[in-house]
Amino acid sequence: MITTLYPLQFLAEKVGGERVRVVNLTPPGAEPHDWQPGARDIISILEADLFTYNGSGFEPWVDRVLEEAHENEILNATDALRQDLSLGEGKGPADPHVWLDPGLYLKQAVAVKHALAAIDPEGDAQYSENLASLERDLKALEAEMEKGLSACALNVFVINHASFGYLARRFGLEQLSISGLSPEAEASPAKLRGLVNQIEDSGIGYVFFESLVSPRVAETLANEVGAQTLELNPLAGLTSEDQDAGEDYFSVMRSNLDNLKKALQCR
Ligand SMILES: [Zn+2]
Repeated sequence: MITTLYPLQFLAEKVGGERVRVVNLTPPGAEPHDWQPGARDIISILEADLFTYNGSGFEPWVDRVLEEAHENEILNATDALRQDLSLGEGKGPADPHVWLDPGLYLKQAVAVKHALAAIDPEGDAQYSENLASLERDLKALEAEMEKGLSACALNVFVINHASFGYLARRFGLEQLSISGLSPEAEASPAKLRGLVNQIEDSGIGYVFFESLVSPRVAETLANEVGAQTLELNPLAGLTSEDQDAGEDYFSVMRSNLDNLKKALQCR
């Protein structure tokens, strides 16, 4: 089975367990927004029993590649949660970062489970069991986040690119972003001035930067308003160091929760 980005790889490994060999296309440390498949990647996509991609615009190259794919199973992991994908619609591209809301991530896991059971019916019972265990863990994380973010002095945070929209929506927060949905987009001077005003008005003390994106812009903005910087990890990819240190979706989400609680001054 081939996946396009870390959150899908993690789901596939959890749900597939020992029955499934998962190969993730984006290498550790790469910013998956910018990634493009090479010839070898395209061949592996076309040859895989199951190819799972996030959809919702995260892999702009995928339509071109899938024109040639018809032999194998293809899963768009956000297809099943279309009604949840309201963010960003009507004003440019939809927000693809659904995995940062544990409830939406669970829906992606269910879609992966159905796709695996369809190509390997004998594994169905095992996949169901694995999914149930993942579901318990995701619900526990969601409850922890709900509790941790329920009593905070602030409900607004500032981040490099607008990757935390679903998380913000789920937990009643507001996300202000420097560069919108694309990590590499430059913010206009007018937009930066607006952000500076909003930060000063709301008493925000931290500007978040992201693990795989240069912290330069976040640092500049933080200096401008006398704030500090803190890391949030949108988890689209992990670095090799993260992986060697045993980090995974759950550990990174818990670090994100700790940093959000710090920035939002939660009790
Ligand atoms: Zn992103």
